[in-house]
Amino acid sequence: MPGREAALETQGRLIVDVARLEKGGEWYTGETAPELLDFGDSELLTPLGGIMYNLKVELLGTELLARGEVRQRLRCVCSRCADTFETEAAEKGFVFSSEINDTTDFLDLTEEIREAIILALPGYPVCREACRGLCMACGANLNAAECTCRKTGRDNRWSALDALK
Ligand SMILES: [Zn+2]
Ligand SMILES: [Zn+2]
Repeated sequence: MPGREAALETQGRLIVDVARLEKGGEWYTGETAPELLDFGDSELLTPLGGIMYNLKVELLGTELLARGEVRQRLRCVCSRCADTFETEAAEKGFVFSSEINDTTDFLDLTEEIREAIILALPGYPVCREACRGLCMACGANLNAAECTCRKTGRDNRWSALDALK
């Protein structure tokens, strides 16, 4: 598969070798360079490795069509309990199409798969659906142990009310 080799050789970008694309399409499978995703100073999300892709690329007349799956491993900080965990952002229904002409030899899809991953990123990463987060009063991780704040806080409120009587 000459197209695939070319893609892997081009500095970790996903580049479709349009001119040499086989009839009936080709699978482009690989991983981009790890530095493609940069979340700046975000501490909630850190990319682990490059974007993994597995795409069927084919020419339908003058239209180039790429379909498949893109994935990115991530290290996240849970937005509820602040624990670090690893997860994956994935777009399993990635679709891209572009009109091409005789002068199109290569098509760089790196930006397209990068945007697909950005759209698939969790807005508020949680380590698990049932994460109980941190106690607002004492900061204890409620996944690990129950704290006594709620009970105490309630007792305090009642005694404050009692004092008003
Ligand atoms: Zn959590
Ligand atoms: Zn507490």
